[in-house]
Amino acid sequence: MNQANILSSSPVGLLPITPENDPWDPIRSLRRYGEHRLTSVELTVTQLCNMRCEHCAVGETLALTEGPRIPLAAILRRLDEVEGLETISITGGEPSYREDTVRDYIVPILRYARERGVRSQINSNVTLDLSRYESMAPYLDVMHISFNYMNADDFHQVGFVRTDRSVSRDTAAKLYERMVDNTKSLARGGMFVSAESMINFRTHKKLPGIHRLIDEMGCRRHEVHPMYPSAFASNLPVLSLEETREAMHGLLDQRNPDLWMLFGTLPFYACSGNKEDQELVLRLRDEPNLTVRNDPDGRNRLNVNLFTGDVYVTDFSDVPSLGNIHHDTLEQVFARWKQHPLNGTVQCHCPAAGCCGPNLLVADTYYKGVDFLKRAAVV
Ligand code: SF4
Repeated sequence: MNQANILSSSPVGLLPITPENDPWDPIRSLRRYGEHRLTSVELTVTQLCNMRCEHCAVGETLALTEGPRIPLAAILRRLDEVEGLETISITGGEPSYREDTVRDYIVPILRYARERGVRSQINSNVTLDLSRYESMAPYLDVMHISFNYMNADDFHQVGFVRTDRSVSRDTAAKLYERMVDNTKSLARGGMFVSAESMINFRTHKKLPGIHRLIDEMGCRRHEVHPMYPSAFASNLPVLSLEETREAMHGLLDQRNPDLWMLFGTLPFYACSGNKEDQELVLRLRDEPNLTVRNDPDGRNRLNVNLFTGDVYVTDFSDVPSLGNIHHDTLEQVFARWKQHPLNGTVQCHCPAAGCCGPNLLVADTYYKGVDFLKRAAVV
């Protein structure tokens, strides 16, 4: 296994990304400005992917071919206009699927972010050539990968379910090994690799083992999010709140307390009247090196499709486009979202609990009809 060739230049004047400093958490700007502001932009740079995971949150939009993107200069101009921009996330598809996307869009956008003092993240399956990820390394803050597997068989079982062609176990195993090798190489070279696992019907009993592998690969953070029924995942079984709680406790019992764990899009809140929920919320607060991120979607972030210019509240929501960068600034679109009736339904905030409300999809899955604006933290 190689050690990745990473010449990571440290960003000057920026606090390191740590459990105490997570620039993606919308509660930071809410505390600073007293209202949600646009501080985060997510760019969908491709709809191509070499995989078709059964749970893919953007599965319905994946394509086999794609047309030209909006010129880079026009995109950077729109980013320039976002005064309070703190983070840029690059997503797909698999962003590194084509080498020219990496060269002509991803690296220049990462370089732009670094020069502006804006933090960057890319969401990748890291199954392609290591050199593609190495070329991003000097400017990238967080390499975000998905990791939901104990072995190549798990990977084969979920990674190609939605392909038209059949993918052999051997082919999948080679990709799995490359993903693991790439992750180890990038981590050894100094890259901040954050591996995300879902809590779902396949993983909920395997999470401690998955956590161990993530730790062994050298990842700096393990992100854990329950899976919600969106896109390809719409027809997959949803875990009950009891099963999700149990899976979280099982993972917490066996985790490495030195590895940063970040939980997100959780369905458990400090305003719950349920004793088990309250106990879990309190346990999460007490764990070392553990953070619960408030959901950026619909709070401080917008998603831009670099082909159409359409702007969404998230990359996977059913909320239709709220504007287009051909004729709207991102701030104008954000102002439109703030007036949107859906936005109003989850805009609660309990400062002492560090909570700014549920994700829309979470509220819809587990709390239909609950008015969070009438609730308040009790722990
Ligand atoms: S902010 Fe909303 S979801 Fe969070 S504890 Fe308060 S009422 Fe509950």
